[in-house]
Amino acid sequence: MTEQTHASAATASDSSLASLLLTGRVALVTGASRGIGRAIARTLAARGAAVAVNYSQREDAARELCEQIVADGGKAIAVGFDVASPAAVDAGIQQVIAALGGLHILVNNAGVSIDALLMRANPDDFSRLLDINLKGAFLCSKAAARHLLRARADGRIINISSVVGEQGNAGQAMYAAAKAGVLGLTKSLARELASRGVTVNAVTPGFIDTDMTAAALKGDAREALLKQIPLARIGRPEEVAEAVAFLAAPAASYITGHVLRVNGGLHI
Ligand code: NAP
Repeated sequence: MTEQTHASAATASDSSLASLLLTGRVALVTGASRGIGRAIARTLAARGAAVAVNYSQREDAARELCEQIVADGGKAIAVGFDVASPAAVDAGIQQVIAALGGLHILVNNAGVSIDALLMRANPDDFSRLLDINLKGAFLCSKAAARHLLRARADGRIINISSVVGEQGNAGQAMYAAAKAGVLGLTKSLARELASRGVTVNAVTPGFIDTDMTAAALKGDAREALLKQIPLARIGRPEEVAEAVAFLAAPAASYITGHVLRVNGGLHI
């Protein structure tokens, strides 16, 4: 390669890297005190976004994450609210706008899992699962939409669904129903908000090493699951965060209504 072609290759790669950056953007990540949400908040901040770190119970963990982001040269605030409460969501999003000056990227990540076979499943648990995992994404999208529309034709909603919402799983009917609902929400909002310059996509993680899966992914159950995963390992939160950061970036400007699988090949 000549010096000139080296120089143009460097320029091309610099400009394509720029399309992965989030400089000047404000992102809200729900459920970011732990696990996948925490990794997403860190990655978005590393790409240049100012990040609002939402939590439900673990204020200390959320504040500690913000301190780490600031120590790394980024900008972050902790914002506590329950995604299942309409009033709390509205107030929380107002708090983000007031503190960070706008909102361009919403990542609906907050979630809980309650597993039970149908015969033992409790209807109150089902309501709670739907309230947090599905209604929470709806409420946050509704409260954020007005602000995302102001994001100069570049607003982003990224919903964290699950491989379980795509293929189902015995003992997880309630969770699967909520996560499949998130996919329907994603596709409808993608159609509804496209003309206003907001893209809406979903990420479906497979089995990822977090508190949510710690109890289930042990011993024989872990070995049996690994046999079903072509990449033969459990995923890391950072691997989900990379997919979210891509969908949030200018590089993904023509992608909407998409379901991006991060599952090691578990569901193809
Ligand atoms: P996790 O480690 O259990 O963390 C859950 C997060 O959600 C925490 O930050 C928690 O806040 C927050 N949260 C829970 N209820 C909330 C509420 N009502 N309002 C606001 N925040 C709330 O879970 P994870 O494994 O990282 O999962 C994150 C997302 O990925 C979930 O939507 C999950 O369904 C999805 N997912 C996970 C996997 C996996 O294998 N781990 C696979 C597919 C999809 P506090 O810390 O304050 O309690």
